[in-house]
Amino acid sequence: MKSEQKHFIKINNIDNVGVVIVPEGIQAGEQIDYNLKSAEFIPYGHKIALHDIRKGSPVVRYGENIAFALDNIKQGEWVNENKISLPAPPSLEELNTNVSNPSLPASNTEYSFMGYRNDDGSVGTKNILAISNSVQCVAGLTEHVVKKIKTELLPKYPNVDDVIGLSHSYGCGIAINAPAAIIPIRTIQNIARNPNFGNEVMVLGLGCEKLRPERIIEHQKGDADIFYMQDPAYQGFEAMVKGAMEIAEKHLKKLNERQRVSCPASELVVGMQCGGSDAFSGITANPVAGLAADLIVKAGGSVMFSEVTEVRDAIHLLVPRATNEKVAKDLIREMKWYDEYLAQGQVDRSENTAPGNKSGGLSTIVEKSLGSVVKSGSSPIMGVVPPGEKLSGKGLHFAATPAGDFVCGTLQLAAGMNVHLFMTGRGTPYGLSAVPVIKISSNTTLAKRWFDLIDFDAGRIISENKTIEELGWELFHLILDVASGNKVVASDKLELYNDLVLFNPGPLT
Ligand code: CA
Repeated sequence: MKSEQKHFIKINNIDNVGVVIVPEGIQAGEQIDYNLKSAEFIPYGHKIALHDIRKGSPVVRYGENIAFALDNIKQGEWVNENKISLPAPPSLEELNTNVSNPSLPASNTEYSFMGYRNDDGSVGTKNILAISNSVQCVAGLTEHVVKKIKTELLPKYPNVDDVIGLSHSYGCGIAINAPAAIIPIRTIQNIARNPNFGNEVMVLGLGCEKLRPERIIEHQKGDADIFYMQDPAYQGFEAMVKGAMEIAEKHLKKLNERQRVSCPASELVVGMQCGGSDAFSGITANPVAGLAADLIVKAGGSVMFSEVTEVRDAIHLLVPRATNEKVAKDLIREMKWYDEYLAQGQVDRSENTAPGNKSGGLSTIVEKSLGSVVKSGSSPIMGVVPPGEKLSGKGLHFAATPAGDFVCGTLQLAAGMNVHLFMTGRGTPYGLSAVPVIKISSNTTLAKRWFDLIDFDAGRIISENKTIEELGWELFHLILDVASGNKVVASDKLELYNDLVLFNPGPLT
């Protein structure tokens, strides 16, 4: 796959562009090889035309048409977003859903990690007291109580890693019976079922809200887990804080009894996504994550990839990988739903690319998608998880989520992930308090500059000539170490955490 060139990388033999790998860029007039000379300065991560590309002809990367030339592009020129136009997305109607792929590869039972096993069979990678909310009105109380528990109660329960609030913007002022309301509601419910919370979630409610606290933790027994600020028993704020602390302490006692035990790697539920991608994401970080994903699937575990607008242009490559016709149709259904959702807002998937993607060399959403889906590895796609639903079953799944980092992460938490892989090229400090996030840089320049924010440098594919196989195995072992609590990820060390952000396509009132 990798060319031996020192100046650029060409991924597929039929590509007519290469990606510049010289950190300083290629200077104008530089002789690159015996028949290729640069016509102008081309920055790091950007594309150089390897042949003349005639006006209206395809620009080809990953062996696929990523764009059309708006004018004649000469060999050696810089191919950027100003010189190209976006092709139409693959037609959903023309995809053949008559597919059949192996169910699951024979699983390898050799690998294990130290996790917290729950009564429902799920396995946590952290031991956390989570305080959920039924409405944003109580977010201030939640923050106050979390801080107080951390300083006054947590030190007495050494087996509990943390206490966190699961505040969100939902709960009231919403059309709770609208069909689309089910997405935020089941997201909040399923987050409370995340294996890292050990089914010891407590809920702070106000009392008059539409989303009833009982609905959030239907799976837990007893209303002792629920607190209402409007309960007449509480005279003033201090009494409320005391009441909430009393409930919290009951849960802390139970959580403190949890111990890490050896669990097979098949209990891993790994969520993957990108944020701040660049042109190297599809060459280094995503292929490495894809290989690690294949290894997790081979070990019997579950892996999910997401981000509908970043797979839409590669859907013709994914549907043939579905394990059966139902999964193929489910994939198409989610694409169609999202096409319509975007059309209602009078936009399409091309809204996805950010200015940073473009200055990082990703000119179109097609180019971004083709690089993005590489993280799915080569396993058959066993199922599709609609937004907010819980993943069930082993193997590779597509969890249909928006691509925005916080929304995607929130929905993958609801799907039940216990480890998160986050690939970045431009650099983002993304982190979640609920699960460990392994941040993987696509280039060594970023990994060096952000030495204490990045956990894994996949840029070594280029800077140290490592193979995808080598780094894929290294990442797989890092996942096991992180899941076991033996290695602490950067976002946990620094306590850099993002908010939960619900996907709410439903109406507000
Ligand atoms: Ca993302």
